[in-house]
Amino acid sequence: SFILIGLSVRAQSRDYQIFIDSGLRFQLAELLDSSIEKLVIVTDEHVKKYYLDDCLHELKSSFPVNVYVIPPGEQSKSMEQYKSLQQFLLNQRITRKSAILALGGGVVGDLAGFAAATFARGIGFIQMPTTILAHDSSIGGKVAVNLDGKKNIIGSFYPPHQVIFDLEMFQTLNEQEIRSGLAEMVKHGLIADQKLYDSLLSSIKVDFDLSSNDFKHLLVQSIQVKNKIVEKDEKETGIRKFLNFGHSFGHALEAAHMNSRTHGECVMLGMIFALWLSNEKFNHLKGFSFQRLMDWVKQMDYPLQLDDVTSAELLNNMKFDKKNTQDELQLVLLKQIGSPCLQNINVYTMESYLNEFIT
Ligand code: NAD
Ligand code: ZN
Repeated sequence: SFILIGLSVRAQSRDYQIFIDSGLRFQLAELLDSSIEKLVIVTDEHVKKYYLDDCLHELKSSFPVNVYVIPPGEQSKSMEQYKSLQQFLLNQRITRKSAILALGGGVVGDLAGFAAATFARGIGFIQMPTTILAHDSSIGGKVAVNLDGKKNIIGSFYPPHQVIFDLEMFQTLNEQEIRSGLAEMVKHGLIADQKLYDSLLSSIKVDFDLSSNDFKHLLVQSIQVKNKIVEKDEKETGIRKFLNFGHSFGHALEAAHMNSRTHGECVMLGMIFALWLSNEKFNHLKGFSFQRLMDWVKQMDYPLQLDDVTSAELLNNMKFDKKNTQDELQLVLLKQIGSPCLQNINVYTMESYLNEFIT
């Protein structure tokens, strides 16, 4: 019995279903649309090692399958990798009756999705997320690659035709990747769902069972937050901006730290910064306990030290964000749990805030 969420993305007039349960990779053949003529599995070397054989074994009597493997990591979200994947699709005579199955985290999903969106003006696209973080990236239809160090600058909106989550695959994630994904779940709680936030902080501990029913329910709640927002504002003209909570500072820190910290670890610090601003500088924040969040964050071992980065460096990176202009930065702040708001902040003021926060 898997949980099935029906999601309708009106702007693209595409409804898609999200399946979540332990062991779904062993039910792939029955979950996929039988009219697909050929499947191309795109995955990375880590995920290949653990899960590709299971998927191939499951699919082999139902679909012809090709496999395209990328090196793990953000560097694979490149125009070069995009081009060689397109060349591969062409060589394999892929048509619109075929589908790409993205087996991996956000990197695989974003690259494979952009390839699916643009090859032959759009072929089938199935997301099979393998990281917790990918509960965020596999839903909502944003697909992209990077160019010249600018994240996600070449991309489009291309919702998947299906999302299939096998919770068992979380078993092989390392602690850093677990923290990374949990941070986005905490984000969804903070911006929209007090109950989710409370349950996350009270039930998730270091040795928590990620393939349990309890975690399945937390993940479903977190996906529902994202669903609701994306359904109302798919193209990010309004409330979808709230999903950037913690991300302005988070992305800046991520750029400064390159590969030593994960996306979600940086976003966690970004959220703490945004909460601090909301409380100290804008008098916005009502009924929020910093102590409770910080206790959880420390217990989960999120890296918190900021002594190897300067406020000038962070500010510079924040200005580069594609959502900002030269003299003003737009940040998502919080009035209380479940009520985010947008705040424009002058760059000079921001520099002094950053200085104060990191020292
Ligand atoms: P990732 O895809 O790089 O995966 C993280 C690491 O975990 C990689 O080394 C990967 O090989 C490994 N891995 C993946 N699944 C595993 C498993 N089950 N067991 C063991 N190892 C596994 O990173 P991510 O954190 O999943 O995603 C980050 C990317 O997602 C970024 O590029 C970001 O821009 C993008 N993103 C996109 C959206 C969107 O809306 N499209 C939203 C958020 C993030
Ligand atoms: Zn994020």
